[in-house]
Amino acid sequence: MSSVDIHGVGMTSQRTRERLVQRLREGGIRYPQVLEAIRSTPRHLFVEEAFAHRAYEDTALPIGFGQTISQPYIVALMTQALLSRGPRERVLEVGTGSGYQAAVLAQLVERVYTVERVRPLLQRAQKLFRKLRLRNIESALQDGGLGWPQHAPYDAIITTAAPEVVPDELLQQLAPDGLLVIPVGLSGSQELRMLIRQGDSSQFEETVLERVRFVPLLSGTVST
Ligand code: SAH
Repeated sequence: MSSVDIHGVGMTSQRTRERLVQRLREGGIRYPQVLEAIRSTPRHLFVEEAFAHRAYEDTALPIGFGQTISQPYIVALMTQALLSRGPRERVLEVGTGSGYQAAVLAQLVERVYTVERVRPLLQRAQKLFRKLRLRNIESALQDGGLGWPQHAPYDAIITTAAPEVVPDELLQQLAPDGLLVIPVGLSGSQELRMLIRQGDSSQFEETVLERVRFVPLLSGTVST
């Protein structure tokens, strides 16, 4: 994207970004640091150019390969849930997609690990991470249903594609008191859940946060 495009959208974006933040606040997003991270993340760079003018609407948008960038409210809700039991240092995201959720997280935690199964999506996100100088994000092409064992354990894991049941591998890669935020269920009847590991045990406290609609978590990777 040329700098002309960036400025073209940027000129109008200050007010529209503020409107989005106000809407999220009214929707129950209370954490100032989450609202601030949303305000300062240029979402128009993460959507396809044809949709850049709609980037600050509270809506999911296509990013190619049949995938979508999540609705800002859902990004904010998941991020708020992730921080609800205190700060987190090392966080794994499953489903990099556009990279937007990772970019928001990178401003709030020490280190973000993010995995994506579709190579062209991953490459586009990686380019943006470099452009925005988000140096605390590490990303890889990987089937995130298996987590990312090399960097485990994680203080929190966030999954932005929905499995039918919570994968054991993700639970196993949580540090003591680690927290997992994940949409679960078949398309059409998913719920967003938060699971918190109780100390270093294999017991988890589970809370249902909201009914949601995510793309399915698929296995394997795609390199085309
Ligand atoms: N967090 C993204 C949301 C993208 S939609 C954003 O902010 O834009 C969910 C993404 O999960 C898609 O890009 C999809 O390809 C990816 N995905 C689905 N199953 C996956 C898996 N097993 N491992 C890694 N990524 C997966």
